[in-house]
Amino acid sequence: MPRIMNLETISRIGEEVVISGWVNTRRDMGKITFFDMRDRSGLLQVVIVPSELDDASRELVSGIRSEYCLRITGLVQARGAKQVNPNLPTGTVELLAKKVEILNPSKTPPFELEDTANINEELRMKYRYLDLRSPRMQKNLILRDKVISFFRDYLHAAGFTEVETPYITKGTPEGAREFLIPSRQQPGKFYALPQSPQQFKQLLMVGGIEKYFQVARCFRDEDQRGDRQPEFTQLDLEMSFVEREDVLKLVEDMMIKMVKEVTPEKRIQQIPFPRISYKEAMDKYGSDKPDLREDKTDPNLLAFAWIVDFPFFERTDDGGWTFSHNPFSKPNDEHMEWLMEKSNIPEIMTQQYDLVLNGYEAGGGSIRNHQPEALKKVFEIMGLSAEDIQSQFGHMLEAFTYGAPPHGGIAPGIDRLVMLLAGEPNIREVIAFPKTGDARDLMMDAPAELPKKNLDEVHIEIKK
Ligand code: ASP
Repeated sequence: MPRIMNLETISRIGEEVVISGWVNTRRDMGKITFFDMRDRSGLLQVVIVPSELDDASRELVSGIRSEYCLRITGLVQARGAKQVNPNLPTGTVELLAKKVEILNPSKTPPFELEDTANINEELRMKYRYLDLRSPRMQKNLILRDKVISFFRDYLHAAGFTEVETPYITKGTPEGAREFLIPSRQQPGKFYALPQSPQQFKQLLMVGGIEKYFQVARCFRDEDQRGDRQPEFTQLDLEMSFVEREDVLKLVEDMMIKMVKEVTPEKRIQQIPFPRISYKEAMDKYGSDKPDLREDKTDPNLLAFAWIVDFPFFERTDDGGWTFSHNPFSKPNDEHMEWLMEKSNIPEIMTQQYDLVLNGYEAGGGSIRNHQPEALKKVFEIMGLSAEDIQSQFGHMLEAFTYGAPPHGGIAPGIDRLVMLLAGEPNIREVIAFPKTGDARDLMMDAPAELPKKNLDEVHIEIKK
């Protein structure tokens, strides 16, 4: 007999069925034992009456404990009116077991899976595969999948194409330190993991894709904070022949519809999303990602806003200039002249926009500087020599000489968005296999040392 899901039993009263899953709890009531069996559809109460079982099963049941993986054949019965459990989707039925098979026994889990709110997080991360069985993690991962599939459907319907871009590539400067991969075949050379697909998505615009998106992993070797991970996911997108308004409108509409469909219990505080200049945000709230919620105790309130008109450049510690967000951004049209003349540098504003949500940066993007001469000026202001510009950005500058279309994009962060929708305190709770604050994977025990042979192959010698 094929296995059915626990939830399906509600329409199978009177039938013999097979279920498979884990023992969530076991309750012994004298002669009768109850197993709450769990599968991805939820819980189902199974009644074990020894006289109903075959001989082999009767032998087994006394040894079965929580988290054993079982297959149970039994009869679906309606529960008496008094026994109905209104809190359980399967609360109107129960399964009278006829045959119990142990697919795999389980050691006692190192923590309770039912409510993990007070469980030590390091322990949860070391045994993440058990933590994932908890209702909390199941709920969060299912929500994450819903958010991502909503975005995919929305963007496909809007004419976007999802394109994968390389993870093993050359560094792209977006202000963070990069993870490096030594090359075996090219001794002494290194790849870098991309901080984002920024350059590739722009090159896809040169390639005529026009509307690109990708659920993209980004890698940044930064010190961790609550809402940071060494690898995280962005909904990266880019469009040709657009202006700022087009990108903001699209993303705003997508977010509003996503919230409505995926988390209808949430309320968006203000539609259209308010737009605040960087200057106003700093003057009024002292932050470029202000928490604009009118009522911060309301877990269902979402205060989206756009922050616009950022200064293009900021001072470096050694008195030079660097870009504030993204070197590929375009200055505001009325400041293009200043850029070309490299004058009034602190006053040059960029067509950069950030989406903020409840005090978090939920995404950032810009209209890009698609004219090679203008892009070159950005690197010159940053103090790069002609050789450095050529070696680091020659490919972009050259690509732009082949009729690059005007383009722009954005990259909402999936992890933070899902974290806020799930009401979780940090993004680790919405990532299946996250790293600790000091960037370790406690389950896999990474990073790890390597045998000398492996290091020799990639031409690496460890400094003692
Ligand atoms: N690449 C940018 C980032 O990762 C986003 C963008 O400008 O589209 O923040």
